Amino acid sequence: MSDQTSPGRSLFIADLHLTEERPPATGRFFHFLEHVARGADALYILGDLFEYWVGDDDLNNAVGQDTAHKLQALANSGTAVYFMHGNRDFLVAQRYAAQCGMTLVADPMIVDLYGTPTLLTHGDALCTDDTQYQQFRKLVRNPIIQRMLLWLPLRMRHALAGSARAGSEQAKAGKPYAIMDVNQKAVTQIFAERGVRRMIHGHTHRPAKHELTVSGKKLERWVLPDWYDEGGYLVCTEEGCTLGSL
Ligand code: MN
Repeated sequence: MSDQTSPGRSLFIADLHLTEERPPATGRFFHFLEHVARGADALYILGDLFEYWVGDDDLNNAVGQDTAHKLQALANSGTAVYFMHGNRDFLVAQRYAAQCGMTLVADPMIVDLYGTPTLLTHGDALCTDDTQYQQFRKLVRNPIIQRMLLWLPLRMRHALAGSARAGSEQAKAGKPYAIMDVNQKAVTQIFAERGVRRMIHGHTHRPAKHELTVSGKKLERWVLPDWYDEGGYLVCTEEGCTLGSL
């Protein structure tokens, strides 16, 4: 909601990795919702809000329930809340989205930000050098596989999530830094395919503004920070975007 005294602004966050094991990050997030996000036109959560998500039926997940209340309060105050899946919370579904008052959106999606069409994506699909990870992604993004996962008892899903997290840490530790970044070809290809000049994503935990020129066109790619130690966000207005810290 904007008026003449407060120009419109939209906020973007990703990679909060909320879990009961890291209460400070949850505290920072709730502070952000109450003091930074209030009054914004929209808040876009671009994946990995949670460290892991075993299903909307896991009502004992206190962080998930507290987060739902806080997001619902923001939505009720007039800020539209959008959620895109990350590689950790791909099982977030309609039931939880309704509890939060947020809208699930596809990855990638294009939004018109005050006149600038902008591509939003979690970012993991751009990391094409990591073939091992891309195979895993294909598997867990398959709706049939997801349906099968959700049929399992919660206890078993928690055990699976635990070993997936451990496996992910181990795999990352053994991989060169460059492999886990976005692939430049994948970046220029998606810019060309979608015909946009601005892209916003997370996943790599390497916050930055990258400017590139392809076929004479000036393009910008914004990378969102993670929330492990500090946390931050991107704010976009009619004037452009800026990274903000907490
Ligand atoms: Mn991710």
